[in-house]
Amino acid sequence: MTTPSTSTASAIPAISIQGLRKSFGPVEVLKDISLDVNHGEVVCVIGPSGSGKSTLLRCVNLLEQPTAGKIFVGEAEMTDPDVDIDGVRRKIGMVFQSFNLFPHLSVLENLTVAQTKVLKRSKSEADTIARSNLERVGMSHKEDAFPAQLSGGQQQRVAIARSLSMTPDLMLFDEPTSALDPELVGEVLAVMKGLAKDGMTMMVVTHEMAFARDVADRVVFMDGGYLVEEGHPDQVIGNPQHERTKSFLYRVL
Ligand code: ADP
Ligand code: MG
Repeated sequence: MTTPSTSTASAIPAISIQGLRKSFGPVEVLKDISLDVNHGEVVCVIGPSGSGKSTLLRCVNLLEQPTAGKIFVGEAEMTDPDVDIDGVRRKIGMVFQSFNLFPHLSVLENLTVAQTKVLKRSKSEADTIARSNLERVGMSHKEDAFPAQLSGGQQQRVAIARSLSMTPDLMLFDEPTSALDPELVGEVLAVMKGLAKDGMTMMVVTHEMAFARDVADRVVFMDGGYLVEEGHPDQVIGNPQHERTKSFLYRVL
C-alpha cells in the first residue's frame, strides 16, 4: 500500500490551470482556459500569432498576473497572494525565443552564476552540475567561449543547459527556435527531444508541427484567447475537429 503522501503527489498534476482569464486593460486575451499538465508530460501549444500562447505560458510562472482563475504548480497555488513565488519559480525553467545569455560571462559562468548566488551551491558543485548539463546539450567543448562566439543554435542550447542547471521540476519553452536560422533549428529540437525522453515535464509553444507531432503527448490549439481543441497530436494535427484548427493547420503545414 502506498503512503497517503505518495499517492497524493502522483495524483497532483505538474501544472493545473483552472478557469484562467487575463486582460490587458479592456482587452481579454485569455478566455477561461483550463488545462492540466501531468508529470513527465510534453504539451505543445500551437496557434496563430496573438492567440495568447505566450501570455498563457507567462501566467504559469506569474510573469503575468492572471485576472481570474487559479494556477497550481505542483501543490503551490501561484495565484495565492501568500505563495512563496521565488521558491516556486526556482522549480520552473523557462526558455525564450531570445537566448538572453549574459554576454560578459563565459558559457560555464552563465551556467553557474545563479546556482551559486540563488541556490547557494558551492563553486565546485555548480561546476559539476553545469558540465553535466553542457554535455547533455552537446556543448562541453565550448565551456570557455563567450556567447558572441557561438551560433544562435549553440546559444539556445547553452540557455537550455543553464535552465537545467537550476534542477527545475518542469520547463516552459516559448518558441525556442523561432529566432534561429532554419539550419540551426534541428539541433535545438534534438536537445528538447532528449529532455522529453528523459521524462522532463514540458510545456512548449512552437510552430514546429513536426516536433509537436513527434514529441508531444498532447497538443493544445489556441485561437483568439480560447483553448479551441486539445488532444493527442495525431488527433489535433492529423485529424482536427474544429474549423479554426483546420484553417490554421492548412496555413502552416
Ligand atoms: P501569442 O504568443 O500567441 O502570439 P500573446 O500572448 O503574445 O500571443 O498575445 C496575446 C494578445 O495579448 C495579443 O493581442 C497581444 O497584443 C496582447 N498582449 C500581450 N502582451 C501584452 C501586454 N503586455 N500589454 C498589452 N497587450 C498585450
Ligand atoms: Mg508568443
